[in-house]
Amino acid sequence: MNRPEISVVVPAYNEEMNIKPLYDRLLSVLAKISPYFEIVFIDDGSHDETVAEVLKMRALDERVKLVSFSRNFGHEMANTAGFRTALGQAVVIIDADLQDPPELIIDMYEKYKEGFDVIYAKRKTRKKESFIKKSTSKWFYRVLKFMSDTEIPLDTGDYRLLSRRAVDELNRFSEKNRFFRGLTHWIGFNVTYVYFDRDERHAGETKYSYIKLMKLAVDAIISFSYKPLKLFTLFGFCSAGFGFLLMLYWIIKKMLFGNPTDGWTSTVTIILFFFGIIMMQISVVGEYIARIYEEVRERPLYIVGRSEGVDPDRVSEKNEIKNYGIDHEA
Ligand code: UDP
Ligand code: MG
Repeated sequence: MNRPEISVVVPAYNEEMNIKPLYDRLLSVLAKISPYFEIVFIDDGSHDETVAEVLKMRALDERVKLVSFSRNFGHEMANTAGFRTALGQAVVIIDADLQDPPELIIDMYEKYKEGFDVIYAKRKTRKKESFIKKSTSKWFYRVLKFMSDTEIPLDTGDYRLLSRRAVDELNRFSEKNRFFRGLTHWIGFNVTYVYFDRDERHAGETKYSYIKLMKLAVDAIISFSYKPLKLFTLFGFCSAGFGFLLMLYWIIKKMLFGNPTDGWTSTVTIILFFFGIIMMQISVVGEYIARIYEEVRERPLYIVGRSEGVDPDRVSEKNEIKNYGIDHEA
């Protein structure tokens, strides 16, 4: 079998209505690039007919492949499984909901041929997403940029194309709390952008609740920086300095005017304020410790319930080392 020239990885969680339209659009786009392509659907434990839809496509076209998780493991894990499974020389990751126009793959592929390894699709506009969503995602990226030590590309989703060597490098990561959008930047190589208008979801609802988004944001910040810890150190120093000045003030005041009962309010406010800070500080440290704990437990990242048309060894957890560096000649 020929190694696919291009793989398209599609994480899908309850996307039954989107599989067929996405497949149709991908087909007409990929046909322009090469007949040797594969579309790998990663079913993230959907409760609807997503798997059946994918299998329907597969019955007609062997280039459609399926990896189905035993339960919902989250978008980042679906991405991970997708990168491990994909065999293409170039690998595109695209959302299942048609918010990312598949036609852009042509542009991205052109850039890849020019020698770029990581090609991001950057949004110019977002149609009809709520104001809150737009502004939260704008602020999310701005805060992230400030908080993290690694540069994270602004206004990009997951839609991107990676070269084989970039994917091979990504497949070496075994960490649990990942933020792919940052990791693809972290690995380096030649990076470029193509621009597009973000469409509305084709069908179904967003799978990202605000809670999930918060988790993503915290993962993104904590897995890329120690800034939260540093900020608290700074805060601690400032408040200790301030406390010291206050102490001098009170001691001098007491020596001059001597009024031992005065100061109940200030004492209590200070105690409450600093307890608050200390608790926040401890919880930030706790976030890091919880992540350390998750990493050292070395549980598998995800469990595959079923796979069709893919090498089970590649997608399975046990083969991190084997996964790295498949031979490059097709
Ligand atoms: N997704 C997933 N697992 C999840 C949540 C989402 O695989 O737990 C997939 C989803 O099917 C879609 C992509 O991730 O293909 C992006 O999700 P969504 O469109 O809901 O996010 P949004 O575009 O609203 O940020
Ligand atoms: Mg979407």
